[in-house]
Amino acid sequence: MPSKHWPAGTQCVTKHDHTKPKAGELAFHKGDVVTIIEAVEGRNWYRARHNESGQEGLLAAGALRERGAIRADHKLSLMPWFHGKISGVEAVQELQPPEDGLFLVRESVRHPGDYVLCVSFGKEVIHYRVLHQDNTLSIDSEQYFCNLIDMIEHYTEQQGALCTKLVKPKAKSGMKSAEEELAKAGWLLNLQHLTLGERIGQGEFGDVLQGEYMGQKVAVKNVKCDVTAQAFLAETAAMTKVRHKNLVRLLGVILHNGLYIVMEFMSKGNLVNFLRTRGRALVPLPQLLQFSLDVAQGMDYLESKKLVHRDLAARNILISEDSVAKVSDFGLARVNPRGADTTLLPVKWTAPEALKHNKFSSKSDVWSYGILLWEVFSFGRAPYPKLSLKEVTEQLEQGYRMEPPEGCPPTVYALMRSCWEMEPGKRPSFKKLTEKLQKELNRAGAAPGTGSQAISISQRSRD
Ligand code: ADP
Ligand code: MG
Repeated sequence: MPSKHWPAGTQCVTKHDHTKPKAGELAFHKGDVVTIIEAVEGRNWYRARHNESGQEGLLAAGALRERGAIRADHKLSLMPWFHGKISGVEAVQELQPPEDGLFLVRESVRHPGDYVLCVSFGKEVIHYRVLHQDNTLSIDSEQYFCNLIDMIEHYTEQQGALCTKLVKPKAKSGMKSAEEELAKAGWLLNLQHLTLGERIGQGEFGDVLQGEYMGQKVAVKNVKCDVTAQAFLAETAAMTKVRHKNLVRLLGVILHNGLYIVMEFMSKGNLVNFLRTRGRALVPLPQLLQFSLDVAQGMDYLESKKLVHRDLAARNILISEDSVAKVSDFGLARVNPRGADTTLLPVKWTAPEALKHNKFSSKSDVWSYGILLWEVFSFGRAPYPKLSLKEVTEQLEQGYRMEPPEGCPPTVYALMRSCWEMEPGKRPSFKKLTEKLQKELNRAGAAPGTGSQAISISQRSRD
């Protein structure tokens, strides 16, 4: 077996050139990105597909490295060519020496709010005024665009009314092109290999579609607004740093139509719907405990990476084909515009100190985890069923806590209560929670009548 175990779908970057492949081998250049299809038994080789050409073949494991994380301190911009408010003269200076198709976009000094596209062509710089009309942008009053990103993408492909196609962006100093950096690190996927299917969900910032990327089933979140896409991109950096069996895996991003975020496909949907549609009759206790343990393990890993989720709730837990629960939307919660607006926080899940003083921490995530436990053991009910948001806040301060859901084991209820300690320091760590739940699961598995289910679950947890 190969020394490293990269599962199917892993994105790897090649370490050197290999331009004269033998039969069955893949040709590649240093820095190319490939998708692992499978390890080749008995040899230190992988079968993989080249992300650019789409060709399939064998590669030596030694020629590959797994792609790295995007550094959060990199100022990645979806619009590195946007220079803000600079004059026409300054724009001309920026575009020296002349080069056909070198371009930037600036905000007009004379007409604030208006954009100007400046393009170098034949030793001159041509300034195109971008017209605003009913929330759309246009240069020639024929082609209309929703935002600058779409407009630039279009004129990179077609010359249209311009003197030349846009060839090379002139980046504002200090700005790094998200496209270049993501490509270098191996996180930029190829639009040509993505097939989009039906809509499987609706997020706050855009639709979630089912799709296929190089033979692998994927879910794709499409963020269309350029400002939101930029914010998401910054937070995607967090997702490139993590890898755990209980975290929904980011496969990569595509800069098209705003932003496509490509993730592993979780065929059984979110945990709330999973539990509501099946209910007590179909989901046995060991399964509830296993889901709870899955989430605690994912969160323990996030805590170890010093990442705070801020929006942990059963709706953000997704279930895979083999019924593994995974945490999603981590690192993205801060993008949420409601982050600043406390009136829009998910009040019933948020710890009191986070609601009141904006003190988010792994311990505030633990509070939310307690609410999630309650959701799980009540088969997807909405928490504090009879209370308004205002009442919840008031009553919590007076010491009120939710009752145990019907049929909830007392030990599990005790865990919920420990998560709901007013003092964050008194709440357990996710590590402690995983230990307690593991014990609980072992006991439930040993109980008469649940034996067979417990066996199938412990078998699954070995992979
Ligand atoms: P948002 O957090 O922006 O509201 P979500 O990421 O929670 O949006 O996605 C909304 C819904 O789309 C989810 O509840 C789930 O049903 C579906 N969904 C999201 N990501 C996936 C995925 N990776 N696999 C399968 N379904 C998904
Ligand atoms: Mg969500």
